[in-house]
Amino acid sequence: PLSKRLKLIADYLPDGANFADIGSDHAYLPAYVCLSDKTARAIAGEVNQGPLESAKKTIQLHQLEEQIDARSGDGLAVLKEGEVEQIVIAGMGGSLITSILEKSPAIAKSAGRIIAQPNVDARVVRQWFNQNDFILIAEEIVGEQGHIYEILVADRHTNVSSPYNDNPQIKDKQLLLGPYLLAEKNNTFIKKWSLEEANLERIISQMQQAKQVNQEKISAFQTELQWIKEELHHEE
Ligand code: SAM
Repeated sequence: PLSKRLKLIADYLPDGANFADIGSDHAYLPAYVCLSDKTARAIAGEVNQGPLESAKKTIQLHQLEEQIDARSGDGLAVLKEGEVEQIVIAGMGGSLITSILEKSPAIAKSAGRIIAQPNVDARVVRQWFNQNDFILIAEEIVGEQGHIYEILVADRHTNVSSPYNDNPQIKDKQLLLGPYLLAEKNNTFIKKWSLEEANLERIISQMQQAKQVNQEKISAFQTELQWIKEELHHEE
């Protein structure tokens, strides 16, 4: 059975999807999508040999060779410009996801939709979308096996208007917390940011006790802590 996290990602692929799953590992996502939709096509990209072999095994096991192409390579280098309509990059840190997009901006921008699932640092992915003409159209937050995951969906051509506030301070807060997740504020969101609140408080007090105090960094963390507290403890 596919994880809740990967199922949620699959929900944002249309019928007849033509997508790439970059860092596909076992190719569970493309296999699930292509088994349930015979018109779907996928490219499973992997930079590491072991995971690439795992992907090939899954494809063989389900006889999906006609639908899924496993390719060896770094990030988007396995794709030609315009070859796929959707790009999924899941299960890595936000800065790795962003660096993969950054390395091949033309290929990234040739896709209509990017679905990113950063394990940490979703903020930098949201920023990349903003700076590269992708509009964030949806977000999900899901808890599974003791982890909390965020899923970001962004489109290049859409009627959806930007979810960010014009006020730069509010926008910065939305970039950290996620504009849709912040508006919805479900239990998983509350749980994630309660953990982050405790984390930040510990980090800030450690930084204040350090021999060389980095006041600029402390202030940045204090601002984030303030945003989190506003959302967790203040009634609107
Ligand atoms: N996407 C799957 C998921 O969400 O369940 C697998 C996530 S797994 C934790 C991360 C995978 O990304 C690993 O298999 C790793 O080899 C691959 N990876 C890391 N950097 C990569 C890169 N630059 N290009 C392609 N794959 C990469």
